[in-house]
Amino acid sequence: MSSLELTQVQHSLRVGLGRVLVVEDEDLIRDTVSLALAEEGFDILIADNSLTALELLGGHGSQASSTDVSLVILDLMLPGMNGLDLCRLLRHRGLDVPILILSAKGTETDRVVGLEVGADDYLAKPFGMRELIARCRALLRRSRGRAVGLPEDPVLRFGDIALNPKECRVFLRGQEVNFSPKEFRILELFIGQPRRVWSRDQIIDRVWGHDFMGDNKTVDVHIRWIREKLEDDPSNPQYLRTVRGFGYRLG
Ligand code: CA
Repeated sequence: MSSLELTQVQHSLRVGLGRVLVVEDEDLIRDTVSLALAEEGFDILIADNSLTALELLGGHGSQASSTDVSLVILDLMLPGMNGLDLCRLLRHRGLDVPILILSAKGTETDRVVGLEVGADDYLAKPFGMRELIARCRALLRRSRGRAVGLPEDPVLRFGDIALNPKECRVFLRGQEVNFSPKEFRILELFIGQPRRVWSRDQIIDRVWGHDFMGDNKTVDVHIRWIREKLEDDPSNPQYLRTVRGFGYRLG
């Protein structure tokens, strides 16, 4: 081993390039990707189906936890649960490591769906190994940048909803949704204490305070607007539920 190679190995050991979970059922692709990433200095975990991947990411009976994995490379066409459903489930469970989808499906629609369910990047097969490695490095740099930079604003999450209190922004499945200031304050109130029931008077008191110039119906109208923005079926809400005789609750 040359001194340059040795320096590179020592460097990768020192900084810890990170552990990559490769979820792919095709042996040849899985082995090729794993080997290439291992040669770059990544630590590799492999899974040939979604259930194994879930266990490696902190499922029951597993020693590993999601914090051990820095990046997930995920094939879409897997036996049993497919890659899109796995990706959606991982995000639903709050796993926030970068996910790079690999797929033979390279159409724009598939790409968009992949990103909508919470993937960070998408690479269509066939792909070059250098491009894959470059994208892995970029994803890790971005996530490390978040981790080692200034503390990130705490983002409040419930289901597919994410609310950033400092930036006053709301996201549904990663897509920003426009909220008026009052709608934002109402959602912030609810998301801060999921399942707590808030009466209309309590909501008015917290959101409008002394400025309030309306009646209780104002709250109902705002709740309806929020439902129209967040609920798949606003007449059958899964997030902002009515608690008859009391008020509303989230979840
Ligand atoms: Ca496959």
